[in-house]
Amino acid sequence: MGGVHYLDYAATAPLRPEALAAMQRQWSQVGNPSSLHTAGRAARRVVEESREQIAALIAAKPADIVFTSGGTEADNLGLKGIAMASSKRRLLVGAAEHHAVLDPAAALAGQGFQVDYLPVDALGRIDVDYLADALSDDVALVAVMWANNEVGTIQPIDEVARLCRRHHVPLHSDAVQVLGQLDLDVSGVTSVAISAHKVGGPVGVGALVLDRNQAVSPLLHGGGQERDVRSGTVDAAGIAGFAAALAAPKVDVRPLRDDLIRQVMVTVPDAVLNGDPVERLPNNAHFSFPGCPGDALLMLLDAQGVAVSTGSACTAGIPQPSHVLMAMGADEDLAGSSLRFSLGWASSQSDVDALAAALPQAVERARRAGGRRRS
Ligand code: PLP
Repeated sequence: MGGVHYLDYAATAPLRPEALAAMQRQWSQVGNPSSLHTAGRAARRVVEESREQIAALIAAKPADIVFTSGGTEADNLGLKGIAMASSKRRLLVGAAEHHAVLDPAAALAGQGFQVDYLPVDALGRIDVDYLADALSDDVALVAVMWANNEVGTIQPIDEVARLCRRHHVPLHSDAVQVLGQLDLDVSGVTSVAISAHKVGGPVGVGALVLDRNQAVSPLLHGGGQERDVRSGTVDAAGIAGFAAALAAPKVDVRPLRDDLIRQVMVTVPDAVLNGDPVERLPNNAHFSFPGCPGDALLMLLDAQGVAVSTGSACTAGIPQPSHVLMAMGADEDLAGSSLRFSLGWASSQSDVDALAAALPQAVERARRAGGRRRS
C-alpha cells in the first residue's frame, strides 16, 4: 500500500490480484454479452459463470442476481423499485441506514410515501419490538441494513425477516459491509444490496439480489438487460472481477481487529468503543475520543501515514455529525469526535502497531487544536 497504513477498508478495499487477473483476461476480449455471435456468447458465459459463483457464495439463486453499478444503485433499485411497484404507500426504514437507503427513502417521501423511521438502541441495534408494532397491511417495504457501515453493529436480520414474512411485507437489506466479512445467507430476505469494491473487486460493480417473484419497477429503461429490471450493457469484466474477489481465499482479520481495540484502549484510556461489542463486523472498530475533533485527528494520523475515517458523510466538504451516532443517542460533540478503523484482506500487524504508535500524540494535538483539552 505504498508505505501507507490503510485502515479504511469499509470505504474501499485494495483490488485483489485475483480480481485484477480476471478483469485483465476479459478486457483483452471483445463482445457484448447481449450479442448473439461467438464473441458475445463468450462474454455472456463469463457473466453467467460469475453470477453462479457469486450466488453460490451467498446462498442465492443465480436468477435472483441483478447486476448494478454498485451498492448505491442496488439500494436505490431495492427501495424505489419495490415501493413504486406496490399499491401501498408506507415505508419502514432504519434510522441508522446508509445514505444510499435514507436518501431514496426521502425521495419517496417527496412522492407521496409515508416514511416511518425505526429507532436503534445505544449499541445501534434496531428495535425489533418497535418494528413488530409498526408492521401492518399498509406497509410497502421494510429496509433494515444487515450491519452498520460506521459502528459495525450486526442487526438481528433473521428476526426482522421472520416478522416481515409473517406480514407478507418485502424486506430490503443493505449487506454492502457484510459481504466477505460474514457467511452471508440471503435466502430469507427479499432484496439485498452488495458491492464489489468493499471486498477487493472493482469500483462501479454491485448487485441487487432480488427475489424473482417480487414486483419491481425498473429505474433504468433501455435494452432490457438483467431480466428487464436493469437496462444497460452488462460489464462482463467488472462482474468477473467481482466474482474473483469474492471467491478469493478468506482472510480472518478478527484477531487483528481485537488487538487494535486492545491497543487503542491501552494508549488512549478514555476512548469509548461504539457499537455492539460482540455482535459487530469482524473488521470494524469505531471509537469516540472525547474532546477531540475527529476530522483533526484523521488529518494528524494521515500525516503519520495512517489512513482512517470519521465514518460519517461530508456535505460540500464540511464534516457532518454522524446520523448513526445521533440515532444511537450520542450528543453532537461525541458524534464529532469519532473515528472508524476498518481492516481487510491485506491488513497486517504493522498497520495496527503504526496506529497505536501514532494515536496518543495525535489525540493530544487534536484536543489542543479543538481548544477542548481535558484535564
Ligand atoms: N451501503 C453501505 C452500507 C455502504 O457502506 C456503501 C459504501 O460506502 C454503500 C451502500 C454504497 O456502495 P457503493 O460505493 O458501491 O455505491
